[in-house]
Amino acid sequence: MSAQTIAINASSLSKKFGDLLAVKNVSFKITKGEILGILGPNGAGKTTIIRLLTGLFKLENDARIEIFNKNIIDNPNEYKLNYGIVPEVSNAFSDYTILQNLKFSAGIYGISSKKEIEKRSMKLLNQFDLMDKMHSKTKSLSKGLKQRLNFCLALIHEPPILILDEPTSGLDPMSTILVRKIILQLKKEGKTILITTHDMHEAQNFCDRVLILNKGEIIADETPDRLREQYKTPSTILFKFESESGGEKLGVDISDVQKTDLKNSFNIGKKNEYYVLSSNNAIKDISELYSFCSKSKLKISGLKIVDTSLEEVFIHLIRNSDLANGGEIK
Ligand code: ATP
Repeated sequence: MSAQTIAINASSLSKKFGDLLAVKNVSFKITKGEILGILGPNGAGKTTIIRLLTGLFKLENDARIEIFNKNIIDNPNEYKLNYGIVPEVSNAFSDYTILQNLKFSAGIYGISSKKEIEKRSMKLLNQFDLMDKMHSKTKSLSKGLKQRLNFCLALIHEPPILILDEPTSGLDPMSTILVRKIILQLKKEGKTILITTHDMHEAQNFCDRVLILNKGEIIADETPDRLREQYKTPSTILFKFESESGGEKLGVDISDVQKTDLKNSFNIGKKNEYYVLSSNNAIKDISELYSFCSKSKLKISGLKIVDTSLEEVFIHLIRNSDLANGGEIK
């Protein structure tokens, strides 16, 4: 197996604010090209970890961070060139236009050639569909457009690693879809991406791996699929019946005998117009359900299987971790 390049190797990160240990001895690695999601309830320590990684907070005690195998202590300024950061709160100047912000940001990262700045700016404005807004003042932009500008500012120095702090928080559905498309495009381009999010759908759908954080500690470090597999609860099978004419029958329309037979054969309940079957073996139960229906001259329609979601796993893990630390179940 070929050795994978480690983009970020963080070990023993801790941060205290007065008496509060906000981050407790956290260690993790991110492989080059990976999207790592950091999930956790409010106050779990996600932003503090980002601030430690990006040099906004000093490393304490035995903490160590390596970026592409180089200890950041040995390159205190140089390592930051590896990062493009989309922070929770934008750092674009509101009185500058989009283009002025881009030029300023390029200057900060030491890009001095006007031609190069122009070339990179145009490429990003094009990629993020901001060409017609380049002379608009940042303060006049909608939240979605501002977030696109934030991505441009993070990418102007062409960094290999992107750090995104809740990048879709507060965006409308269209802007959210666009930002997610951009993130996937950046992954395709080979960027390594660290993303904090409260959105489990986002985490489940495009993080290669997630760290779940609670009260400053990592309580899980896994792929979303393996986490769902590990903490699997029975699947829920929902279905309705179809009438002879093809329309859907409500449960009350099937005969009492059929109803009793169904209940005797399966542990079935009812939720609105759906019959509900809780199952540890969905394939077997669905196949038995179909043979039962064929014998009873019933036709199934609208069958859905609802599997354990990352959100359920997240809630389960946070509750267990709170209980283990003497907390109460909420
Ligand atoms: P959220 O999801 O709400 O953004 P988070 O997981 O990013 O939360 P952090 O912002 O890292 O959490 O905060 C972790 C803990 O540290 C919280 O209890 C917070 O109140 C505390 N904290 C963070 N920054 C400071 C600070 N500058 N001074 C004092 N306490 C802080």
